[in-house]
Amino acid sequence: MKVLRNYINGQFQDASKGGTIELIDPSKNIVYGTAPDSGEEDVLNAINAAKSAFPIWSSMSIEKRNHYLNKIADLIDEKADMLAKAESLDNGKPIKLAARVDIPRASSNMRFFTNAILQFNGENYLMADGSVNYTVRDPLGVVSCISPWNLPLYLFTWKIAPALAAGNTVVAKPSEVTPLTAFLFTEICKEAGLPDGVLNVVHGYGHTLGNSLVKHDTIKAISFTGSTRTGGIIAQSAAALFKKVSLEMGGKNPNIIFADCDYDKMLATTLHSSFANQGEICLCGSRILVEESIYDQFLNDFVAKTKALKVGPPDLSSSKIGAIVSEDHYNKIRSYVQLAQEEGGRIECGGTRPDDLPETHQQGFYLLPTIITGLDQQCRTNQEEIFGPVVTVESFKTETEALEKANATKYGLSASLWTSNVHRAHRFSRSLESGIVWVNTWLKRDLRTPFGGVKQSGVGREGGFDALRFFTEVKNICIQVNTDEAL
Ligand code: NAD
Repeated sequence: MKVLRNYINGQFQDASKGGTIELIDPSKNIVYGTAPDSGEEDVLNAINAAKSAFPIWSSMSIEKRNHYLNKIADLIDEKADMLAKAESLDNGKPIKLAARVDIPRASSNMRFFTNAILQFNGENYLMADGSVNYTVRDPLGVVSCISPWNLPLYLFTWKIAPALAAGNTVVAKPSEVTPLTAFLFTEICKEAGLPDGVLNVVHGYGHTLGNSLVKHDTIKAISFTGSTRTGGIIAQSAAALFKKVSLEMGGKNPNIIFADCDYDKMLATTLHSSFANQGEICLCGSRILVEESIYDQFLNDFVAKTKALKVGPPDLSSSKIGAIVSEDHYNKIRSYVQLAQEEGGRIECGGTRPDDLPETHQQGFYLLPTIITGLDQQCRTNQEEIFGPVVTVESFKTETEALEKANATKYGLSASLWTSNVHRAHRFSRSLESGIVWVNTWLKRDLRTPFGGVKQSGVGREGGFDALRFFTEVKNICIQVNTDEAL
């Protein structure tokens, strides 16, 4: 049994009231450990530690801060195998996927922002009389980073790295569903010699611990990734206290396929963009819109390829899709498959558990990748985020109809567009109500680019200098040069 602990002021501690949360391995549905069920007292201790550490950390030279952050990145790389196995145990994703995507991205996040801060500059403007305006950017103080369960260490470090690189101290809360790699990350921080109190990680539930963290007036900014519902609750609390918020929330992303696309590339990528990480990526394309002239061919090929995807234990290298993260989420996804049928949808494949699971994994939360047709864009199946290996496919006749369907939800995180017509690529991309558009590709990430959604998918942008701007406050300094000037 693994026993996770909070990391406050450089010390590993249990929740002050002693409560714990059971941690489940979703691939087998067995308890593998416990995490602290922390509360307000733990939040206060963590905030006080971060507050005490702030003057030292914020005044430390960037080079010295970077030394610690780069050391953390090196240790993540050194322990990559162990971290990948831990991520898979906690989340249910294939170990191979965690080793290829999640863990390398966590160390890249650390390195990227240690580098970016060296290039992060203010503005300056000379006035006609020779007076000089220049801006400086200072860290905010104690900030909070709250992350979800789908890409646990990847998204945890995506927030912590820019916050720390910019000179803030942090109280972070990983998802209570997948806290293991965040705990291992704190052990790494300790080993790297990160000064006490600079990063504090508290474990517990969102509605208790998360809520008191968000509401504390010492917390100057909240960087949150999770559901739109929780984002709304956090935005309300933060608004009353005028805190800065960055909210990365849900999606219901369209994947728009025109007949003039590179068909083979589109098909291979669409398989990936639909079902990678069990479809539990906020950027997965869950509404596939296909030009009518290739609809039948596409559906036929897509169903055949999807049926060939192997669903199974995350530690088997043959498994392309692992287990759904938790029983609650598994039941939620299945309820949407049921709903889709009630709404008149036709299940082209999937929708059930695989029947070839080994005896050891019979109790795990597995679902075959599911393709649904026969639904319009207005039904709940196409309006609500399912966040699992479930997609719908619908045809369109014209570009106007495709655009109308693509934009027909309250979400606007990302979109994929498949066409070889460069004029259409530009025109259509500009009209999509979406923070990110991938043309003839999916999830191609450059960490310098702004990342985030519009509509109910997001407020603000992460990535590159946007993240560093979020975690700093700008000040304009105007120096009068001509001292004789009359006012
Ligand atoms: P969630 O909103 O349930 O939880 C996210 C985090 O918020 C967790 O750490 C949780 O404990 C915490 N939390 C919950 N209630 C809180 C409260 N009242 N105050 C403070 N914190 C609280 O989301 P989830 O189920 O963990 O993650 C899945 C969701 O995340 C999906 O909607 C997905 O689209 C979204 N997501 C978005 C992005 C993005 O970049 N836009 C990336 C990944 C996941």
